[in-house]
Amino acid sequence: MKLSFRVIKVQVYFQEVTLTTKARVDLVDLTDQVTGFVHACNISSGICLIDSFHSTTAIVVNEHERGLMTDLLTTLQELFPRGRGWLHDRVDDNADAHLASMFLGHATAFPIKDGRLWRGTWQNIFLVELDGPRTRRVLVEVLGTA
Ligand code: ZN
Repeated sequence: MKLSFRVIKVQVYFQEVTLTTKARVDLVDLTDQVTGFVHACNISSGICLIDSFHSTTAIVVNEHERGLMTDLLTTLQELFPRGRGWLHDRVDDNADAHLASMFLGHATAFPIKDGRLWRGTWQNIFLVELDGPRTRRVLVEVLGTA
């Protein structure tokens, strides 16, 4: 088997977003910040990673519609009720937040195509706060070619 390749110069950019959530469970829309950062990087083709630093937050992608956002938080509280007798609650009383975080996931990624984040019209990017209010950090990494 013969491998062929070409050398492409890849640029990597990072932005750390620090924000303060307002309630124990909360959704913060990061879409404008992420798309603005991607635009500023001036990458035509690549990938954008959005990653939360925390074990009691999550990153999700969906429509920014008030009813749906409330439905998500309600569903999480039904699936992972606080104080249900979780074993981790004996340590620091936030097992529900850890469990919801593990099921939702800590990161997401989008392609960058034609210089913009390649996402659908209703695909907004949210940090899900599950044990707030707190100061939280999200890393946005853009990797690609100009
Ligand atoms: Zn904990």
